[in-house]
Amino acid sequence: MKILIVEDERKIGEYLRQGLTEAGFVVDLACNGLDGHHLTMTESYDLLILDIMLPDVDGWQILKSLREMDRCMPVLILTARDSVDDRVKGLELGADDYLVKPFAFTELLARVRTLLRRGTTPVAETTLKVGDLELDLIRHRVTRAGHRIHLTAKEFVLLELLVHRKGEALPRSLIASQVWDMNFNSDTNVIDVAIRRLRTKIDNDFEPKLIHTIRGMGYMLDVPSEE
Ligand code: CA
Repeated sequence: MKILIVEDERKIGEYLRQGLTEAGFVVDLACNGLDGHHLTMTESYDLLILDIMLPDVDGWQILKSLREMDRCMPVLILTARDSVDDRVKGLELGADDYLVKPFAFTELLARVRTLLRRGTTPVAETTLKVGDLELDLIRHRVTRAGHRIHLTAKEFVLLELLVHRKGEALPRSLIASQVWDMNFNSDTNVIDVAIRRLRTKIDNDFEPKLIHTIRGMGYMLDVPSEE
């Protein structure tokens, strides 16, 4: 498993590189945004650990270029600023998870492993179908009525959860814990933003609508019965 770290603070970068190397990963370290940007565009990695505050090309720009290129490697954002705005912005730009500095290495390693584990799926179940929506769990491809739909890694996990539990009203708290490994409590904005993005891709141009809002509770994916 190959990981790219983009971090301009040498101490943190080296510390992460050493720790992840000892944990058995192959690690590249870019110490500025330009190098990081170049590597994400040209090399292939299983995961990107991305600092946001970089002096030249910042993390937002790198993330944006990456998603515009439709490269679907998972992205873990490192941010010094613990604001909802940053988290929402990160998710809107297609980040999969984030850590607020300072963080413990064990916490980072746990997040890395979770993100990488999601990249692989059990052999038995390779395709999920709901109506004309199809999820290929091996290649992480989604189609609706035969049209390819491009999702970020996080959006895919979210959709996979909704499809797996089709017809069940899922509380926001459950979605938060299953998709983000977190207890968001009152901060459900992140989930609503992610669902909105998913709806735009899955439902906007198609009928019938599959993702339903359960007021005051959460969301459900289902095909309306034909009556
Ligand atoms: Ca920095």
